Amino acid sequence: MEITRNGLETGRGPSDWFTGTVYIDTVAAPAGSSHVSASNVHFTPGARTAWHTHPNGQTIWVTEGVGLCQQRGGRVEVIRPGDRVFFEPGEEHWHGATATRFMTHLAMLDVDDAGNAAAWGDHVTDEEYAAAPPVAD
Ligand code: MN
Repeated sequence: MEITRNGLETGRGPSDWFTGTVYIDTVAAPAGSSHVSASNVHFTPGARTAWHTHPNGQTIWVTEGVGLCQQRGGRVEVIRPGDRVFFEPGEEHWHGATATRFMTHLAMLDVDDAGNAAAWGDHVTDEEYAAAPPVAD
């Protein structure tokens, strides 16, 4: 057993991978034979990931706020606390906050044998982001 006390510094999501301001707290990191990676990701209003894929897929579980997600070729979906989304291995997608709300989700995945969690592509444009449906309060 190894306890990691709540003292790890919150990281900023790098601008190559995100639009806007995103904070990331590590929950579980791959170690030894374990490929499990889990992060608590906090998106400020308007912030979102770039388009990306995960080699072994990803589950996100929304814990706070109101968010958005989209698979390539699909429509933008609104997601709320308690909603869970699974992205298939290799499925191109993005996720983030709505324009007017914070969103926090727990992100869980298995890294590949080389330790890769994701392959990153283009940023989500303002036009793509603006295709989100209106969010009723
Ligand atoms: Mn993802």
